[in-house]
Amino acid sequence: MTNPPLTVGFISLGCAKNLVDSQVMAGVLLSEHLKLAPSPEEADVILVNTCAFIEDARAEAAEAILRACQHKAAGGCRAVVVAGCLPQRYRERVKETFPDVDAFVGVDELDRIGEIVRQVIAGKRGVVAVGEGAPTRLFQSKIPGLRFSGGPFAYLKVAEGCNHACAFCAIPGIRGSYRSRSVAELVSEARALLDSGVRELNLISQDTTSYGVDLRRRQSAALPGIDEERGGRRSADAANNLPGLLRTLDALDGEFWIRILYGYPSRVTDELLEAMATARHVCAYLDLPIQHSHPDILRAMQRADAVRAVADLPQRLRRAVPGMVLRTTCLVGFPGETEEHFQHLLAYLEAAKFDHLGVFAFSAEEGTAAAGLLHVPPAEVAEERRDRLMRLQRQVVDERRKALAGTTAQAILLQQLAEDVVLRSTEREGHNQKRRHERSPRDDSPLWLARLARQAPEVDGMTYVRGVPPGSNPGQFVKLRITGGRAYDLEAQVLS
Ligand code: SF4
Repeated sequence: MTNPPLTVGFISLGCAKNLVDSQVMAGVLLSEHLKLAPSPEEADVILVNTCAFIEDARAEAAEAILRACQHKAAGGCRAVVVAGCLPQRYRERVKETFPDVDAFVGVDELDRIGEIVRQVIAGKRGVVAVGEGAPTRLFQSKIPGLRFSGGPFAYLKVAEGCNHACAFCAIPGIRGSYRSRSVAELVSEARALLDSGVRELNLISQDTTSYGVDLRRRQSAALPGIDEERGGRRSADAANNLPGLLRTLDALDGEFWIRILYGYPSRVTDELLEAMATARHVCAYLDLPIQHSHPDILRAMQRADAVRAVADLPQRLRRAVPGMVLRTTCLVGFPGETEEHFQHLLAYLEAAKFDHLGVFAFSAEEGTAAAGLLHVPPAEVAEERRDRLMRLQRQVVDERRKALAGTTAQAILLQQLAEDVVLRSTEREGHNQKRRHERSPRDDSPLWLARLARQAPEVDGMTYVRGVPPGSNPGQFVKLRITGGRAYDLEAQVLS
């Protein structure tokens, strides 16, 4: 009699980029005849894929790891493996911090996960599979249609690493230099995802607007005469930049959306805006973290190259792409930020009226340039500034929601909610979420969750829809009229 296959249960923490890494590891495990458990509690091996970007993320990772180790100690599973940014960043320390973890796997070793799971099941302990030096590799999914998003949408990671050197950010040290996947590989993965039922492709990386910068550099070295800064458009392979990639993906058949997440303000070229404005499938949506508006603070953040771009960013983008929806992220309490600097940011955001905003309070990260800076505003000042920005944003969101009432839009159906589910309204302050519950409106038709082009997954709120025709399925496009909403969520009725 053969033994049942080993099962691995994922706990994937952090951002969508980390979720893609979890999918890559799941593809490796499945291709090596291991199985995925329906939940971590039912698995032989618990795999915690971690984030270590800031203190909150590390605390969340530590809690998940300790819970998994307790589960193992109680006989609930056979081994615990920790992967991702935490072991990558703290290679030297993880073993003594988490002595009950059986193996640690770095971000450059994702394809070794099957081998490592078999080792720990065979009794090996204290495995540290984390390469020395900065990561350099790129991974392709062994099962390209596989996704953990839980709906008819997927994340397409176009590149890994980052070439910027923002003073507050530990990411380049953890993830290495920027390296892009090839257009051919991305197109083939996009096709597989669309074939598997995906109707929304979210292009992600640390800076999606820099896509292809390394490919063009390599290409221009091989073929002198290419104007690399302009995106290598004189070359034979003109798609090695984000506009080119968009045009290529846009030519794929079917009804679907493409959305660009995580851009860098000064990398938004006119060519990109033109490609967005003329594409059939690309949402008029950009997520561009500005971090701050004041030139002094941007320079102190080592984002001097963004000063000019940030100044007229919302106006320029809305002029170029009709109906453009903008998301941004700001960082308050950076060393040296005075009340005057903050007022500049407040006034900027009041005028810009970003559709979606996230705000973080500065925390000094070990190994970053900002960790050694003086004149750090007290934590309570940073928190208070964050709250002031979020109060302002709530007014912007309330105005926008009222303006949207009565308008029509396309939406993707995500899931039908059980009849006893009450309407949930989500209030977001940065990444902290508080939920309050409202009674659902009186309506006999089932309540569905849907997404508009103006709502990115996970961060921008949802649309609650009535009047969905019987027999409809997740992933189906419908036309609807927005009837109202609460806080960051919208309510709508399907148009017959
Ligand atoms: S662009 Fe983003 S990921 Fe890159 S260093 Fe700056 S904040 Fe970090």
